[in-house]
Amino acid sequence: MTRIRLLAVLVALAPLAARAELRVVSSIPTLGALAKEVGGDRISLDSLGKGYQDPHFVEPKPSLMLTLNKADLLLYVGLELEIGWLPPLVLGSRNPKIQTGELGNLDCSQAIPVLDVPTTKVDRSMGDIHPQGNPHYWIPPENARRLAKLIATRLTQLDPEGAATYQKRLADFNARVDAKEKSWTPLVRKMNGEKIVTYHKSWSYVSKWLGMEEIGYLEIKPGIPPSPDHLLRLIQQMRAEHVQLLLVEDFYNLSTARLVADKAGAKMLVLPTDVGAKPEIRTWFDLAETVLRALANAAGAG
Ligand SMILES: [Zn+2]
Repeated sequence: MTRIRLLAVLVALAPLAARAELRVVSSIPTLGALAKEVGGDRISLDSLGKGYQDPHFVEPKPSLMLTLNKADLLLYVGLELEIGWLPPLVLGSRNPKIQTGELGNLDCSQAIPVLDVPTTKVDRSMGDIHPQGNPHYWIPPENARRLAKLIATRLTQLDPEGAATYQKRLADFNARVDAKEKSWTPLVRKMNGEKIVTYHKSWSYVSKWLGMEEIGYLEIKPGIPPSPDHLLRLIQQMRAEHVQLLLVEDFYNLSTARLVADKAGAKMLVLPTDVGAKPEIRTWFDLAETVLRALANAAGAG
């Protein structure tokens, strides 16, 4: 009897529980991780790209359209980071809620003061895949706070009943970011003035955060692979300027990066740029701390 009554109660509650959960889909896992910080149990999460993939080039599989078909909110980086794969998925999802201009479509770059905006007209036919400025903005604490605020505002618009929850969780997130920033101060100071070379131009925001000086890039332009001439000049420059660190993501050509680092007498540092790049990087805090500690350790050794 009791069991039947309990069952009846559960069945009656089930639709309510289902309704309360907002389905959030992010293009890259870090945006989803930030949404979870402010959304908590009120949202469910899916990410189209994986943290170990190059976010410029995700394979637009049909299964991703199905994921988008059920989404209430799509979070993406913008600045053309996902232009090669996301727009066809959004159209193909047949989900009116997440189309451009709808509340369920959030270009997160609007929260960010964009770096590396070209001063001359650049288009993708010239090969540069950052024609609207640098899209790799989600690691520094200041930008995490901006993103969390933007996402909290949009979650509140979509789910007004959750307003108090989102506000409280946003304040809590900001307090934790502030505390982390304080504890990171010695590491940040250690990086100040460090000269680095990077494979792709994906570290501009981190360099600005830490006061590092970028001397050059293995790619000729963002998205244009290195040529032997270019690498030779870069190696000479690295030697001349005593560059100690070469930063590269896992999905780039590590043997080329290692060759350059060896010839230049620098250390190659393979760094994550997204939540999920490694299984243990589950939150924005994990990501920022992993990057910062790896940099500080390598700088210390060099
Ligand atoms: Zn890029």
